[in-house]
Amino acid sequence: MSTTSSLFTDLDFDRDGKQFGYIQAPQSTNTAAWANLFIPLIVIKHGDGPTALLFGGNHGDEYEGPVTLLKLARTISPEHVRGRIILVPALNLPAVQANTRLSPLDGRNMNRAFPGSPSDTITGQIAHFVSSVLIPMADVVVDVHSGGRSMHFLPSVNMHRVADPRQMSEMVRLAMAWGAPYVFIYRDVAGSGLLPGYAESLGKPTLGTEMGSASQYGPATLKLAYDGLRNVLAEMGVLSDEHRTPATPSQIVASELRDDYIMSPASGIFEPLVELGDTVEVGQPVGCIHFIEQPSWEPVVIRAKTAGFVMSRRAIPLTQQGDCVVVVARRIE
Ligand code: CA
Repeated sequence: MSTTSSLFTDLDFDRDGKQFGYIQAPQSTNTAAWANLFIPLIVIKHGDGPTALLFGGNHGDEYEGPVTLLKLARTISPEHVRGRIILVPALNLPAVQANTRLSPLDGRNMNRAFPGSPSDTITGQIAHFVSSVLIPMADVVVDVHSGGRSMHFLPSVNMHRVADPRQMSEMVRLAMAWGAPYVFIYRDVAGSGLLPGYAESLGKPTLGTEMGSASQYGPATLKLAYDGLRNVLAEMGVLSDEHRTPATPSQIVASELRDDYIMSPASGIFEPLVELGDTVEVGQPVGCIHFIEQPSWEPVVIRAKTAGFVMSRRAIPLTQQGDCVVVVARRIE
């Protein structure tokens, strides 16, 4: 079994200047026996310095990353850079083109496919190229996410709590530089194999985001993504300080308990009873589930199991048992 990726790029990562190109992934489809998937890749390099690796479109229905990375790719001149910026604006390209969270080619979640393997389905092959070729070059990894279609979020820059205190304080420092309202420490409650988790496990300073959601998508969110990424690049010294946009200091918050992630106990129509930012107490109703097939049934009330405030809530009314409907966070030092 091969350990070498069949994916490739014509770009030269060591060349000064700005290069637009692609990661090409061999494909064979019903309508094209011989084909390649062309995943956009941009390299901006100028002299020696740190390498920033930026991703958008890891989840296809989250367009804050793709739009922001395309803007950065066009607007940053090599003369502004000290070191290197590698941009992948649409990592899960087929999903970005289909407005789906998961790849329409193999039904897989790119953000559960890491580190991937060359003999995997296409999503895992792309993950493997990222793990074996791109991430090893990076001094900082940023993966821009939002809640997509299914979740609303207070805008945050986020990370797991990693074991190494030096890596953790470096990640918090870079996250604070973004200038988002919240720096959010989360835990995985829906599987492993995340791109940020993999980069964190290598000791790389790694930032994720939840910039809002499909229905919060607008100029304010996109400005936060664009300014924030430039702020992080300036904090790294990859861009000069004149590229910074001042922002009010972020609050550091965390949802580290399993019970902070409230899953629906039943399938039906979700009625939210709290807004983003609302304070919640233990036992407080945060939503209920209505049963359209049984009009006489009382809705099931969903209650908070932890105290804090609402960091995220479900955006799609139709809900299956086990879907996360509310995330409760708390301020920490
Ligand atoms: Ca996401």
